Amino acid sequence: MKPWTPFEAERRRMVEIQLRHRGIHDERVLEAMLRVPRHEFVPPEFLERAYEDRPLPIGGAGTISQPYMVAAMTDAAHVEPGDRVLEVGTGSGYQAAVLASLGATVYSLERNAQLADAARARLARLGYGQVEVICADGSQGYALAAPYNSILVTAASPRVPPALLEQLAEGGRLIIPIGDLQVQRLERVEKTASGISTRMLEACQFVPLIGKYGWPEEDFRGR
Ligand code: SAM
Repeated sequence: MKPWTPFEAERRRMVEIQLRHRGIHDERVLEAMLRVPRHEFVPPEFLERAYEDRPLPIGGAGTISQPYMVAAMTDAAHVEPGDRVLEVGTGSGYQAAVLASLGATVYSLERNAQLADAARARLARLGYGQVEVICADGSQGYALAAPYNSILVTAASPRVPPALLEQLAEGGRLIIPIGDLQVQRLERVEKTASGISTRMLEACQFVPLIGKYGWPEEDFRGR
């Protein structure tokens, strides 16, 4: 018999009620969301709320995204085992763990050094050896490991950063919330041999992408 793990019942409810019933049908994504222990990625004071249908604060200006949004972005990215995936906005490391759980090699960029250090240590402790966390301005991407089969940006941007498009492989998918500081729409940008095609997905609310191709650093000093 499989050993019981903490919060397993909560995680199963989260997958059925928040994800499957809302239209996430890829069994691989649902299984990854079932496997990854979300409660390990929230601050201790939010432990009991780890599986609620909402984002939660993680310190700094960061949040761990709502489970549905993590699943929807992962679903839209169509990640296959062996893919190279770039995540912009490591935060807690939860989204990176879900991507790694699908068999991807993940490069995850975080501008806040404290969050990057904490996520790196957490992911190592939990055994996600195929995630590399780098402290850098992710709006410029990470050319060293490009090209990527998928790029997920988990912070809101006023426009699609050109560096990310350049670093996307042909056939690759970029999932990114585009809009103003209040509300955005998730976009799925696909790079094909004949050019770029963009599909609008759902409305969303993310914290800002701060950097060269996001919102100007000087508007957010100290955040
Ligand atoms: N994916 C995260 C998770 O699973 O916990 C949630 C990400 S949180 C909504 C957005 C993160 O993006 C914050 O931690 C913030 O510091 C980070 N961020 C904002 N601008 C950034 C940039 N230019 N480069 C890298 N990270 C950035």
